[in-house]
Amino acid sequence: MADLFGGLGGLGDLVGGLTKIMPQDDPNVKVFAAQKELSDLQKQEAEIFCAIGKKVFAADGAAAYPAEADKLKLIQSNIQAAQEKLGVVQGEAQAAESAKQEADAARTCPQCGTMNPEGVKFCQECGTKLGAPEKAFCPQCGQENPTGTRFCGACGARMGE
Ligand SMILES: [Zn+2]
Ligand SMILES: [Zn+2]
Repeated sequence: MADLFGGLGGLGDLVGGLTKIMPQDDPNVKVFAAQKELSDLQKQEAEIFCAIGKKVFAADGAAAYPAEADKLKLIQSNIQAAQEKLGVVQGEAQAAESAKQEADAARTCPQCGTMNPEGVKFCQECGTKLGAPEKAFCPQCGQENPTGTRFCGACGARMGE
């Protein structure tokens, strides 16, 4: 490993080089690291107290902490309402997204793939009619076939272009 950095003397150079890339001796970096360490530890401490609190609350029963139990009840019902609201807005966002995709698909030319501006009826690139694909009816038997079908699925007649 040391050979990679020019023999034994290279280690000091390596550390020096890294320090230049990541200035760990920068006073602000040191402050940030120390603050992060402290807040991480405080968070862990709070989580343990929280776990203890839940156990004590469960063991003693809600009646032992009437004021907190009331607040908790309110918060829990608010949580339920917030979850329902989240579900509703997620549904709305999903509907808006699929509506947008549908609109994008409707203005994308089935012939050449050009995406045209909204409200355009014919492709600006090749003149193909945009919007819902025309239904293809067999000229022979009248069977409705998917657009682009070459031969009627019912009678085998060649479909018109
Ligand atoms: Zn086109
Ligand atoms: Zn047919």
